[in-house]
Amino acid sequence: MTIHRLLYRSDMDLAGTAAGIRQQIVEIVRISEARNAADGLTGALLHTRGVFIQVLEGPMPAVEATFERICCDLRHRRVELIELVEAEGRVFGEWSMGRISADQRIERLVSRLPAGEDQVPEAASAHATIQLMRTLMVSGPAQAASSEQLPGTLRGPGG
Ligand code: FAD
Repeated sequence: MTIHRLLYRSDMDLAGTAAGIRQQIVEIVRISEARNAADGLTGALLHTRGVFIQVLEGPMPAVEATFERICCDLRHRRVELIELVEAEGRVFGEWSMGRISADQRIERLVSRLPAGEDQVPEAASAHATIQLMRTLMVSGPAQAASSEQLPGTLRGPGG
């Protein structure tokens, strides 16, 4: 079966206290886990202060249908497709919807991810972002922040 992988970023639009927002994200993930598993999708959702970054991987029709629903969701805005590619295999095969809550060091890197149509990161940056998310899923933020792969992961202003 051909697997496609999609990467996007968006601006969170959730109201409430920090704990309330965290609870809403937990709920999004809980519902998505079940739905993605039924649709043969795997992936992960990274959230930092104000930003979502999500990877979805699976059969193209399911990736497309899910992304269409996600785009209509009012809990975030400025949904920006970063990459949609045919993949050799799944990077997040163990998770129908992993949740990554980034610490401050990761937040700094994510905040530098370019936003705006004329600033779509190059494929190498998208690849590095996906690998970082995989590392965060497996090892947690501290491990990822000390890893060699971080400096080139997310392109800063001006590239
Ligand atoms: P319904 O549940 O019938 O809802 C109708 C509409 O209301 C939809 O537009 C829905 O987006 C919106 N909605 C639902 N609940 C709320 C709420 N509490 N507040 C405001 N609006 C609401 N879904 C997946 O299946 N897989 C994913 O991987 C996935 N990832 C997501 C990542 C993010 C960052 C967000 C914000 C949502 C994600 N969702 C995901 C949820 C997705 O956007 C849909 O809400 C969900 O799939 C249900 O779709 P539905 O058409 O059945 O909508």
